[in-house]
Amino acid sequence: MYDTIVGVVKTFQIAIDGPVAAGKGTTAKLVAQRLGFLYVDTGAMYRSLTLYSQRAGVVLTDEAAVVGLLQKDKPHVDLRVPSESERDGRLCTVLLNGEDVSWKVRTEEVSRGVSIITQYAGVRDMITPLARKIAETQDVVMEGRDITSVVLPRADMLIYMDAQPMERAIRRHRELLMRGEDVTLDQVHADLVERDERDSHRQIAPLKKVPGAWILDTTGMTIDQVADKIVERVNEKRSQEN
Ligand code: C5P
Repeated sequence: MYDTIVGVVKTFQIAIDGPVAAGKGTTAKLVAQRLGFLYVDTGAMYRSLTLYSQRAGVVLTDEAAVVGLLQKDKPHVDLRVPSESERDGRLCTVLLNGEDVSWKVRTEEVSRGVSIITQYAGVRDMITPLARKIAETQDVVMEGRDITSVVLPRADMLIYMDAQPMERAIRRHRELLMRGEDVTLDQVHADLVERDERDSHRQIAPLKKVPGAWILDTTGMTIDQVADKIVERVNEKRSQEN
């Protein structure tokens, strides 16, 4: 496929947004594997900046301190497909200044912090260009909160993935228990509702359903079923375009 600029190969972009534990990560990863695309977890990029700020001891509600720290230190965030020795259930390998933080960014402490610092324009301005650049060079399945609205609004496929809040809380709780975190379902549910609220009502790049997005409700569906549906649509679209 070629873009209007002769010789520039246009990548195929699947953009997925949705609230916490809607199934974006696992589905996106599976879809990427089936299509041979790169899976890009933008949440993990923001989580890495959160971990960095927490380790530095800044108060996350202090916007100037967080943005100042990140602008000064410019921590390097990288995502890669897990190597053979890294296949321990992670969806992707996350590197923060070269350190493997793939699991360290998944704790409830980071989850609580990340939706605070992602309200800051100075923080978003560090990740958006990085994510766009990745999508310009390879076919991607990219997921987050503002992919369909800000990062890749002209993607080939825009998806808003959702599921009922209690089902999402149960999924997330199960994940945390498996990782040995001691947390109750009620606590997970409360945190999830609070994070969704903040992500949907912030002033910059809030989570929203953009016009033309495919609203995909995964309640009661398995990951395989959701991935099948997406791959089917992508194949239909590609065969129409060729
Ligand atoms: O997807 P995940 O739960 O890992 O995302 C963590 C947090 O990062 C979200 O709650 C949201 O605050 C933020 N985020 C965002 N924009 C994205 C991806 C994630 O604001 N594109």
